[in-house]
Amino acid sequence: MRTILILLSLIVVTTAAAETFEYWPGARYDPSIPGVEDVLGYASGDRITWHRDTIRYFETLQEAAPDRVRVARYGQSWEGRELIYVVISSPANIARLDAIKANMQALRDPSATSQDEAERIIADQPAITWLSYGVHGNEISSTDAAMMTAYHLLAAENDPRVSDILENTVVVIDPMQNPDGRDRFIQRYETARGLLPDSDRISAEQNEPWPSGRTNHYLFDMNRDWFMMTQPETQGRVRAVQEFYPVAFVDAHEMGSNSTYYFAPEAIPYNPHLAADQRASLELFGRTNARWFDAFGIDYFTREVYDAFYPGYGASWPSYFGSIAMTYEQSSSRGLVVRKYDGVEMAYRDTVRGHFVTSLGTAETVANNRQKFLEDFYAYQVSAIEEGRTGDVRAYVIPAQRDQAGANKLAGLLVQQGVEVERATAAFRACGRDYGAGSFVISLAQPAKRLVRTLLDPDVPLDGEFVAEQERRRSKKLEDQIYDVTAWSLPLMMNVRSDACGRAVTGDFVAAGPELFQPASLRGPADATAFLVPWGEAPAIRLLAHAHRRGLAVKSTDKAFTHDGTRYPSGTLIFDAADNPAELRDTLAALAEETGAAVTAVSSTWVTDGPNFGSGNVVRMNAPRVAMAWDEPTSQYSAGNTRFVIERQFDYPVTVIRSSQLGSADLRRYQVLILPESYGGYLDTLGESGAENLGGWVERGGVLITVGNATRFAADPSVDLVSIRPEDAFVDEAVTESIPEDGDEEEPKMTVPGTIISGDDEYRTLTTPAEASLDSVGGVLLRARVDGDHWLGAGVSETINVLARDSDVFTPARLDAGVNVARFEAADEILASGYLWDENRRQLAYKPFAVAEPRGDGYVVAFTQDPNVRAYLDGLNVIFMNAIFRGSAHARPVR
Ligand SMILES: [Zn+2]
Repeated sequence: MRTILILLSLIVVTTAAAETFEYWPGARYDPSIPGVEDVLGYASGDRITWHRDTIRYFETLQEAAPDRVRVARYGQSWEGRELIYVVISSPANIARLDAIKANMQALRDPSATSQDEAERIIADQPAITWLSYGVHGNEISSTDAAMMTAYHLLAAENDPRVSDILENTVVVIDPMQNPDGRDRFIQRYETARGLLPDSDRISAEQNEPWPSGRTNHYLFDMNRDWFMMTQPETQGRVRAVQEFYPVAFVDAHEMGSNSTYYFAPEAIPYNPHLAADQRASLELFGRTNARWFDAFGIDYFTREVYDAFYPGYGASWPSYFGSIAMTYEQSSSRGLVVRKYDGVEMAYRDTVRGHFVTSLGTAETVANNRQKFLEDFYAYQVSAIEEGRTGDVRAYVIPAQRDQAGANKLAGLLVQQGVEVERATAAFRACGRDYGAGSFVISLAQPAKRLVRTLLDPDVPLDGEFVAEQERRRSKKLEDQIYDVTAWSLPLMMNVRSDACGRAVTGDFVAAGPELFQPASLRGPADATAFLVPWGEAPAIRLLAHAHRRGLAVKSTDKAFTHDGTRYPSGTLIFDAADNPAELRDTLAALAEETGAAVTAVSSTWVTDGPNFGSGNVVRMNAPRVAMAWDEPTSQYSAGNTRFVIERQFDYPVTVIRSSQLGSADLRRYQVLILPESYGGYLDTLGESGAENLGGWVERGGVLITVGNATRFAADPSVDLVSIRPEDAFVDEAVTESIPEDGDEEEPKMTVPGTIISGDDEYRTLTTPAEASLDSVGGVLLRARVDGDHWLGAGVSETINVLARDSDVFTPARLDAGVNVARFEAADEILASGYLWDENRRQLAYKPFAVAEPRGDGYVVAFTQDPNVRAYLDGLNVIFMNAIFRGSAHARPVR
């Protein structure tokens, strides 16, 4: 009875609190505009709103106020959920929305819009604010804040800011950037719930199962994807944002529950390619938000974390067209209520309110600075062109090259991001070099100059003072403040040659289009005995994947050969007419068009150099069934991104198997098993018997591919599936020798012998933890050299660029155990881009990136770094897909 009474009083208290909770104290709302509760049946902040209900709410708003609201669809998630943005403004602005968008296009292009013309446009042009929410699906509050923000802008009757905002600005709300991740979070949160929402951090509802809702369906962090645009959600957003060119862009996130609220100005390091006045404007937003937080007694902080150095964040990419882009971070309730470390219970609605207040503060700031922000936007384009016209780099040339598919994709990616790219229709000369027709030219005298430099420069330097501070912190074993990778140069990551030129480049050029690939064709005589597809570009891999799925018979050469005067690289695919159905030619012609891989028909199989097609150096390819570890302890990023590369970039299916089942699974149906990176080791999950199960499968002809730190599992001495071993940090002997040894070991004593510490070096050595690993690296691009004689290196260029993260270094394989098919360059050559600690640079030199070791009838292929990070290391596609397709062709299971 007593229990019931207590529960009842709790409910009363909760309800009473809900009734008095005001998002904007004293606000009075127009009853003709439906609130969240009117449409969804609960007050804003009392539930975590699903995707479908969010859409329903905005559609209802549009019905209630069609003259002030426009809902538009900009894409679809992998799981089929609609992506929308919602435009809110005055009836007059909504009526001329197309003209407003056209005006922004005009301001973006000073070559077509003079200063006078710009001033005329600005006099009567609303400024656009873009508010985007929930790119990380488990950062839940912002979507509910999006609905409250829209409601307030349409219904608040006594907030004088509202009419200013509607008249002087257009507010675009992207309420949910990652619907698949959000609904995944909600579904599992709701599943764990009981009678009352639980605030205990140890409760099931406060602990998300694998994979978290942060990521989309293929487990991408879409807040890293803006310039590579691998995901359909990002592709849609990049298109939509460029229709509007907002002067301010907010990406609303959540951070740890014990924190408060973060808004701009942002932390250092700044990206040196950003313009100084963009940074100055950040403060205007910060001060408005601070004023309201002070008024409501809400804590916040600025500047300490969340930098914008990396250009692939939502809060940085729009900066490169002249927007003021910002991240806002609300401490998360991880559910409907959470208990903070100090015992305070933070309710979901409190967190919704944080984003609601800053959303309105942002629109208010834009309204108050409408003219300034539009003038700054235009001036940004003018100064970009001027810098590009006079700077040290005035053009980039992407020559016609070996990996033309890669060059085409790079050009298309840039065009999709608003970069003007031209394609040469005839040969030309620039900066002392000859270039062929088909080369791409990017003049930097264009509005997108800063984006081009950021994405194409081989290196974007970190600020010297920031670097000095990181080295100081490191010397004290404090964590560094580098938030993400320090290298992202697209030509390096895609292994596409791109030349900087210090002079303007002229020639016969036409505008290049946004296509990422060009269809190819089948050429050669009708009486073909075989069809050849050169290896080494992504389209050939796609063609092989489709050929396997159609059951075509295909062989591949381990050595280069010459046929009819043409040199074919190792790895080249050979389709014999005799082994295949009569319609082979038509099938391959269709595949050439679909995949972009050129196919050559030959009437004779006679080669003039290298192996014949029946040689022992030519292997029969089989269609491997590919399995991959999934679920804990696997890293969701590594697993999802690897699966995406294989399934969506190369159209080949993968079976994912929960790691907990791998140890006992019958793997005979599979020829390839991939272990992605993991948190914690696989050995704990698989156990020794599970490891033996995998070992037996490899011995019988399986191909085990370990990715990044999963190589530690294969290299564990008790597993011993690969001979290489992870290294400790190198310790200079000269320094160690000076450390006094412990006294005799007979009796444990209460004290140790006295020492004299002679200097700073010795002090540092004595205070360094024993068995230290190298300091972790945020992410740099390292050069590796490839052994093209090995099947794993077939078709791969001589040098590749590897994104190295964390601190792993492995010993090279001895030649009687395996082959180091790709190993890092010497210490003075190794660093291609980014900031790398000196100890790591010296110790990584000559160490392996890709090792292939035979084991019984099978193979282990160990990658010491993840080749599929964010699916943006295109230059590593061939070596990784070789491990799958060529690995299974070289293994010798009983077939
Ligand atoms: Zn986030």
